[in-house]
Amino acid sequence: MKIIMLGAPGAGKGTQALNIAKEYNIPHISTGDIFRANIKGGTELGKKAKEYMDRGALVPDEVTIGMLLDRIAEADCKNGYVLDGFPRTIPQAESLKKALAEKGDKVDFAVDIEVPDEVITDRMSGRRACTKCGGTYHIAFNPPKKEGICDNCGSELVQRADDKPETVLERLRTYHELTQPLIDFYKNEGILCEVDGTQSPGKVLSDILKALG
Ligand code: AMP
Repeated sequence: MKIIMLGAPGAGKGTQALNIAKEYNIPHISTGDIFRANIKGGTELGKKAKEYMDRGALVPDEVTIGMLLDRIAEADCKNGYVLDGFPRTIPQAESLKKALAEKGDKVDFAVDIEVPDEVITDRMSGRRACTKCGGTYHIAFNPPKKEGICDNCGSELVQRADDKPETVLERLRTYHELTQPLIDFYKNEGILCEVDGTQSPGKVLSDILKALG
């Protein structure tokens, strides 16, 4: 099963991508997590990505597409994967489609988690992320069992620099301009599943699993 997660930053893509990955026993691949790991590791890729991420812009397609195609060529991806945060532009979606088609393959589902901008900005202030496994939480709506600690791996939870209010507004602007057109792209492909992301995380997951059949 090859699944793509769509939705604005803060819509709950990361949380649901992890849930889906567990359900189908396939890897969860987050381009944001890969960039953050590279920033932490001080790599050239990390240095390049940081300058865009810190201001809420997208990392250029030339950097992102090759990185993702390399990742999905790894052995653990042979039975499928959940992509969280990729594609984010039409050229990224076209590149993925082409790379898969060359192997007679295709994406099975694109899940769009729909949440209005006002709800997103309210949510972002309470968002916390795991410094190690990339798990995401919300202090009010999806709290960890123990405050400040990841349920999944026991590491520390922090507020990401790009969850600051002014950066959130820029990320939303970028989302509407560059990423939202992907909804029509996958609608035309006949694989779009739209889910109301304002519901509880549990209800959002059950709606997604129902749609994936
Ligand atoms: P995320 O963790 O998915 O919210 O991503 C955090 C940041 O990483 C984004 O705001 C972008 O700057 C960058 N990023 C992640 N995925 C992509 C992508 N597919 N294309 C370009 N930039 C990306």
